[in-house]
Amino acid sequence: MRGWDAVGAHAAGYNSQSIGIVLIGDWISSVPPSVQLQAAKDLISIGVELGYIRPDYQLIGHRQVRATECPGDALYNEISNWERFTHGVY
Ligand SMILES: [Zn+2]
Repeated sequence: MRGWDAVGAHAAGYNSQSIGIVLIGDWISSVPPSVQLQAAKDLISIGVELGYIRPDYQLIGHRQVRATECPGDALYNEISNWERFTHGVY
């Protein structure tokens, strides 16, 4: 982890208002192990608790802000069922 205060370079136009979470692996046809998915959810919860992520955050996939397949079809479908997933970007 680079730290809550580090500004990423993953999503031009959104870097200063967003936090990028990487789930290392290829998630085009299979989802990450449940422990990895839970770690991502826990990281989001901790970010909210610590005040680094707004309670009304919008969860989106990398592909929604940049021309990329990321996070892979399988993982994208998975997170689209998570709390606060947002189809559009506002
Ligand atoms: Zn990505």
